[in-house]
Amino acid sequence: MAAPNPPALDNPEVLAEKIVDALIYRIGKDQKTARPHDWLAATVLAIRDRIIDKWFASTRAAHKAGAKRVYYLSLEFLIGRLLRDAFSNMGVMEEVRSALQTLEVDLEIIREQEPDAALGNGGLGRLAACFMESLASLEIPAYGYGIRYLNGMFRQRIDDGWQVELPENWLDHGNPWEFERRESSYKVGFGGEAAADETGMIKWVPAEQVIATAFDTPVVGWRGKRVNTLRLWSAYPIDPIRLDAFNAGDHIGALVAKNRSEALIRVLYPADSSPAGQELRLRQEYFFSSASIQDIVRRHIQYFGDIKTLPDKAAIQLNDTHPAISVAELMRLLIDIHNLPFAEAWDITVKTFGYTNHTLLPEALESWSLPLFERLLPRHMQIIYAINAKILREARAKNDSDEFIRSISLIDENGERRVRMANLAFVGSHSINGVAALHTDLMKETVFHGLHQLYPNRINNKTNGITQRRWLFQSNPDLVNLAKEAIGDGFMDDFSKIAELGKFAKDKAFQEKFSAVKLKNKIRLAEHLRRTMGVKLDPHSLFDVQIKRIHEYKRQLLNLLETIALYDQIRSHPEKNWVPQVKIFAGKAASSYTRAKQIIKLTNDVARRVNFDPVVGDLLKVVFVPNYNVSQAEIIIPAADLSEQISTAGMEASGTGNMKLAMNGALTIGTLDGANVEIKDNVGDDNIFIFGKTASEVLELRQNGYNPRELIENSAELTQALNSVASGVFAHDDPNRYSDLVHDLYNSDYFMLAADFDDYCDTQRKVDNQWLDKSAWTEKAIINSANMSWFSSDRTISEYAKDIWRVI
Ligand SMILES: *Cc1c(COP(=O)(O)O)cnc(C)c1O
Repeated sequence: MAAPNPPALDNPEVLAEKIVDALIYRIGKDQKTARPHDWLAATVLAIRDRIIDKWFASTRAAHKAGAKRVYYLSLEFLIGRLLRDAFSNMGVMEEVRSALQTLEVDLEIIREQEPDAALGNGGLGRLAACFMESLASLEIPAYGYGIRYLNGMFRQRIDDGWQVELPENWLDHGNPWEFERRESSYKVGFGGEAAADETGMIKWVPAEQVIATAFDTPVVGWRGKRVNTLRLWSAYPIDPIRLDAFNAGDHIGALVAKNRSEALIRVLYPADSSPAGQELRLRQEYFFSSASIQDIVRRHIQYFGDIKTLPDKAAIQLNDTHPAISVAELMRLLIDIHNLPFAEAWDITVKTFGYTNHTLLPEALESWSLPLFERLLPRHMQIIYAINAKILREARAKNDSDEFIRSISLIDENGERRVRMANLAFVGSHSINGVAALHTDLMKETVFHGLHQLYPNRINNKTNGITQRRWLFQSNPDLVNLAKEAIGDGFMDDFSKIAELGKFAKDKAFQEKFSAVKLKNKIRLAEHLRRTMGVKLDPHSLFDVQIKRIHEYKRQLLNLLETIALYDQIRSHPEKNWVPQVKIFAGKAASSYTRAKQIIKLTNDVARRVNFDPVVGDLLKVVFVPNYNVSQAEIIIPAADLSEQISTAGMEASGTGNMKLAMNGALTIGTLDGANVEIKDNVGDDNIFIFGKTASEVLELRQNGYNPRELIENSAELTQALNSVASGVFAHDDPNRYSDLVHDLYNSDYFMLAADFDDYCDTQRKVDNQWLDKSAWTEKAIINSANMSWFSSDRTISEYAKDIWRVI
């Protein structure tokens, strides 16, 4: 059954009038002086009123039904631009377009004025954004909780091939989507002492407090049926100014509290290489966790009156361990403020929380130095000791071995004592999920081996997903129109129906239309890159795309070394029937991650040489697109022919870029890692290019002593590629720039590039051969688009809702 469209909007003239009214009376500009961002603000304001009506209706309906709410706590929400998302889910895109036309304003031009909200870093943050959209679309009452960063993630510029980090000033022109809620403010404390008072009750007296204030952004679901809230916390000082100090002439010192609170919300992931950086990060995590838990408890008491029914009415999901301190914070509120006994508080807590693990990499598992933790959060430290005592008693009853007990403990006793946030999140939750089938299996065997023995029913899998509304409907309208022409528009409301496209996979006329859409998207991307970077690309060449955070485990370097090997081969035999291709890279490196930054530089060094080599011409181009973000992804993904998902097996928890690309008809070249395994199951072995060692082979290699030097010496292509990198072929200005990088590959190669290199190159040449058979390629591309509906975040959220949150 197709859902009814929302009531038709005003006719274009009436809407145009509303936009002009907003421009004049709310922005203070007239039509003559208005600049594109003024038009953007006026258009959003004109439509926003309708969204607000839906928003209040949604909140009232949930209240009236006494519905259970989902709370999604995440340090990141990589939401991108909101205009097209909100307007298209409200079903007003075309009305707005024509209203603006009557004013001679181009919707596409003002749309591009909207900055990407700089509130996330990568896949984990984008997952949170897709989840918020699916929650609203599935009409589940939900709140996202996070931080309203003033600058957030840095903006990446490339200077002479190197990454430079600049502050992202996304709030400079104001933000028409958000509402400050001064009335929703909470005090968050740090430091001080926690001791029993005369009645024997523990009392925490913090040394310092800041005020967390809510900023709410509406999240519009599909067809505008429900609007949920993304609630982001900002920080204010309790005393913004010490007037006495100010008047005495200490103008800076008088404002120190303001600066201190503002530091909390400046950036996402402040560099944690210094003790001050680590402390700031822990403060951020506690700040947003405490404000969110206080808000959830306050709402529960207001609506339901009795704190003991919290698990029936609230499901709190921890997106990774960043909000794990919430477990101790809820315990603190239940025991110290609501006077519940420990055991009862613990029962409520475990029933309320779920925790999603996102990584197995040991260096990415959060832990805090115990002295720091104790100094900043003395009461929480006591609570964590009490939880630990209880858990270790249970553990000892099961298995008394030291190794087992050590693996369970919330305190890491190896070397400097540290608080382990993953263990806290695990014991404090009734559900612990991984994000792809392989990842969940590995979780049971590795990080949570001991905890899984103690609580064998807690770990479950919820394979990630992406919202097809943003990643297909909005970003690839031509493909959507072609699909509607072929199978009708039923898939817009029931996405499983997109599978009907499979019937046309072999249809030559449909194939031609399908590849015409792809070509159009490639022309659009080529035009964008010509305009923004000055590169000239042939849209008929194969667009080979690797876009994601730059990290050694994701192995951009493997792709780059294969590119160099191909370059060498083309130069030796330019007369051969090479497949013209463009290697497109994009991604940010963490600011303190030297090797990742060196890989960006190498990519640009290779690009500079290859792109200007007359022998190679259009056969090979290399492009590094600066400042990868959601909006860049929306242009690149519909234009991709080949999707690079080549992480060392066992290291990528899921990936979601892989899903977006396959849904848009790119074929995947990938290892059996993360969700690639499930993509292969859905699209079929013949429609994906799998290569490389499996996760268990990687493990075995590591255990049996991995010898990269021998592998490199046995591969003529790899040896030659590394020789040219080491000898400075790509770095005449600094020939030793990559000596250490090459040295590390010969001597350790932790990410096992050498083990997979030859197989990867062979598979790339298979890709080339397949590309030469245009019809067979397009058939596979159609099958990919048709078979990806299982990777909709609607499916993922339905599973969370049924199995973990129990809200449907
Ligand atoms: C989807 C997405 C990611 C995640 O990509 P992976 O390939 O899964 O690492 C990162 N950044 C942005 C902007 C995205 O849209």
